[in-house]
Amino acid sequence: MTHQTHPFPSGTVLGYPRIGPRRELKKALEAFWAGRAEAAEVEATAADLRRRTRTRLAELGLATDLPAIPSAFSFYDQVLDAATVLGAVPDRFADLVDGSGALDLAGYSTVARGRGDDLPLEMTKWFDSNYHYLVPEIGPGTTFRFASDRPVREFAEGLADGVLTRPVLVGPVTFLALAKAAEGSPEGFAPIDRLADVLPVYAEVLRALRAAGATWVQLEEPALVSDSTGVPADRLLAAATEAYRVLATDLPAAERPSILVAAPYGDLRDALPVLAATDVEGLALDLVRGTVPTGSVAGLADKVVVGGVVDGHNIWRADLDAALGGLERLEGLGAHQVAVGTSTSLFHVPHDVEDEPQLDPTLRSWLAFADQKVREVVTLATGVTEGREAVHAELLAAADARRSRAEAPGVVRPEVRERLGGLDATAFRRGEFATRQAAQAERLGLPALPTTTIGSFPQTPEIRVARAAFGRGEISAEQYQDEMRAEVRRVVELQEQIGLDVLVHGEPERNDMVQYFAENLDGFSVTQNGWVQSYGSRCTRPSILWGDVSRPAPITVPWTTYAQSLTPKPVKGMLTGPVTILAWSFVRDDQPLADTANQVALALRDEIADLEAAGTAIVQVDEPALRELLPLRADAHAAYLDWSVASFRLSTSGVRPDTQIHTHLCYSEFGEIFGAIDGLDADVTSIEAARSKMEILGDIAAEGYPRGIGPGVWDIHSPRVPSEAEVTDLLASAVRVVDPTQLWVNPDCGLKTRRYEEVTPSLEHVLAATRTVRDSL
Ligand code: GLN
Ligand code: ZN
Repeated sequence: MTHQTHPFPSGTVLGYPRIGPRRELKKALEAFWAGRAEAAEVEATAADLRRRTRTRLAELGLATDLPAIPSAFSFYDQVLDAATVLGAVPDRFADLVDGSGALDLAGYSTVARGRGDDLPLEMTKWFDSNYHYLVPEIGPGTTFRFASDRPVREFAEGLADGVLTRPVLVGPVTFLALAKAAEGSPEGFAPIDRLADVLPVYAEVLRALRAAGATWVQLEEPALVSDSTGVPADRLLAAATEAYRVLATDLPAAERPSILVAAPYGDLRDALPVLAATDVEGLALDLVRGTVPTGSVAGLADKVVVGGVVDGHNIWRADLDAALGGLERLEGLGAHQVAVGTSTSLFHVPHDVEDEPQLDPTLRSWLAFADQKVREVVTLATGVTEGREAVHAELLAAADARRSRAEAPGVVRPEVRERLGGLDATAFRRGEFATRQAAQAERLGLPALPTTTIGSFPQTPEIRVARAAFGRGEISAEQYQDEMRAEVRRVVELQEQIGLDVLVHGEPERNDMVQYFAENLDGFSVTQNGWVQSYGSRCTRPSILWGDVSRPAPITVPWTTYAQSLTPKPVKGMLTGPVTILAWSFVRDDQPLADTANQVALALRDEIADLEAAGTAIVQVDEPALRELLPLRADAHAAYLDWSVASFRLSTSGVRPDTQIHTHLCYSEFGEIFGAIDGLDADVTSIEAARSKMEILGDIAAEGYPRGIGPGVWDIHSPRVPSEAEVTDLLASAVRVVDPTQLWVNPDCGLKTRRYEEVTPSLEHVLAATRTVRDSL
C-alpha cells in the first residue's frame, strides 16, 4: 500500500532538555509563582529558550528544512500538556478554564501545584526514570475538546523562524493508560474506556498541525513497552490498533502530518507487529533498551523506522561502531527508510559536557550530554547514508574514548573486585529475627510504640546560606562544620524536648541524600551544571558513577557520634542504600548493575561497621528508589528484585544481632514488591502510608509479617499540621490491625522540605497521640 509520506530526515532526536542550560525556565516560573514576574515574562523566557534550542540543534547538524528538530517544549509536564490540549481538566479546577476550555499560565500552574484544599494532580514517576509526570484524572463524564492550540502555535513559531519542526505529543493510548479514574467513577471504569472519545480531538489537533504546515508529528507511546500501567496487555494492543486506525487510516493522509509513533524506554515486543500493521508512516524504536527485531515484520515496507541507538537516558559516549551495526541490521528489515535517533527524549540528560570545566578532562572525554548526543546522531546518520568510510575518524575517536575508559585508573580496582569475588552467602544473611529482636529489646529498652523520625530536619535558609558560602570558599571547612554541629545540637535538643524515643542528627550537612555520599566515595564525580528536570521547576544534579566504588574514610560517623554525645537516647545512624544511590546517579554501563550495587553496598557495610564500633545501636539505610528501578516488563522483575534486595542485605548484614537495622521506603503501593520488602530483612521498615490512611497495614498483618513497621502517621508532603485527635485515631486503628509490639510511630518521610512552624507542633501532636494510645494498650 502506498500513500503520501512526507520526507523525513536522516537523523533526529526524540526530545531535548526544556529547562534551559542555566535553569532559566525554573527561575522564570518560580518568580511568576512568587508574584515577582508577569506571565508575559515567563512566556518570553520560554520563547527564547525554544528559539535557542532550535538554533543550537541546527548548529549541531540537525536539518531545518526536514522535521528533524522536535517541538517538545513544556512549561511543567508533557502529560499535563496533553490533558490541557484535550481540555481534560478536573472539575475542581473548572473555574480556571476560559470559554474555549483553555487554561492560562496561572491556571495551568494551579492544576499542577494545587491551591488551598484543591489538591493538584497527583505526581508519579515517568516509566523507569526519575522524572515525575502529573496523573490526569479521567472519568466517564470528562468532556474532551481541542482546548489549547499551544502545540500548533509553537510549531508556527518555529516555522516563522525558518525551522520546520516536528511537534511532539503524548499519544492517546499512553495518555489514557497513565491517567487514573476520576473520583466518583463507577467500579470497573478505566480511563482507557474513553479512547473513542479522545481520538476525534487528537484528529482535530493533527488537522490543525497540518494546516499550519507540519509534515510530521511525533506521538509518544511508551505505554506500549510496559507491563506496569495497569492496563492489561491485550487491551493496550487493541487500543493501539483502534487509535491508529482512527488517526492514520480514517483521517486521510493529506489532511494530517505523517505520524511517527515513538516507543521509548523499552522493547515493543508484541506491540511492534501491531503498530507495523497500522497506517502510521513511522515508528521510533528504542534500540538501547530494546533490540533490533529478528525476522521480518509485516508492514514496515512503507514506513520510516527511527533506530534509537543513542542512549537518551544516560551520559556515556555511544559505541558508534556497535550503533552502526544495529542500524545496518535494522536496514535489513526492509523499511522504506531507516533514520537515526535517540532511544528516548534527551531531557533525562544535562545540556552540554563543555559546560563542565571542572570535571576531570579524562572523564569528560568519555561523556555525551544532550549536545554531544545530537552530534552522535548526526555522525551516525552520515554513516548510514554515505557509508562507514565517511565517518571513519569519528568511529576511531569513539573507540579511543571507550578504550581510555576501560583502561583508566580507578575504573577497575583489583582490591574491590577481589573483595566482591570472595563473598559467600553468609555475607548476605543476618541471624534469626527472633534472636535479633530479643537482643535489641534488651539493649534499647524502648517503650511500646516507639517514636522516631525519618532522618532529615528542616533545611533552613541559614543552612543553605552556610553551604553556599562554603561552596564559594567564603567560609572555611571548620566554620562550616561548626555551624552544622550547632544545628545538630539544636535538632537533638528539640527532639528531647518533644520526647521522641529514637533521635536523629537531622542531616543538615547533606545537600542531597545521594550526592552527599557520591562526594565522599571513590568512583563518583559530581557536575556543576548537570541539572535535569525532576518535575515542574525542580531539577536534580545526578552524580556520575564511573569507577569501582570504595570508601576512603568514614563519612557519617563523626556526625552521628557527635549527636550521640549530646543525649542518652539512642541516635539512629543514617545512610542512603545502594539501589537509591544507583537510581539517582548516572551509572557506568560497562558492567552489570548488580555488581555496581554490590560495590556500593560494601562501602556502606564498612560505614555501618564503623558506626557500630562507635557505639551506634540503630542504623537506617534508606531505599526510597527501590520501586522506581523496577523493570517495566513483568518478566524482568524477579531478576531485578534478586540483585537489588541482595545489595541491601550485603550492606546491612555485617552487624551484630543487637544492632537494629531500619529502612525507609517512600511509597505504600507495595503489592508488587511485598516479597522484596520481606526479603530486605530490616528489623524496622518505615513507609509512606499516611495519605492512604495506612491501608497497607491490613495486608501486612494478613501476610504474617513479623518485623517492625512504621506506616507514617503524618503526611509531610503538605504544610498541614495534623491534629492530635487525627493522629490518635490513626494509631488507634493501627493497633487494632497489627500487633502493637511491631508498630513504630513516625512521620511518613524526611522533614527537610518542611518548616519548623509545621514540624514542631506536628511532632508534639504525634507524641501526645502516642501517649494516649500507649495508655490504652
Ligand atoms: N533520611 C532521608 C530524609 O529524612 C530519607 C528521605 C527519603 O526517603 N526520600 O530526608
Ligand atoms: Zn520517604
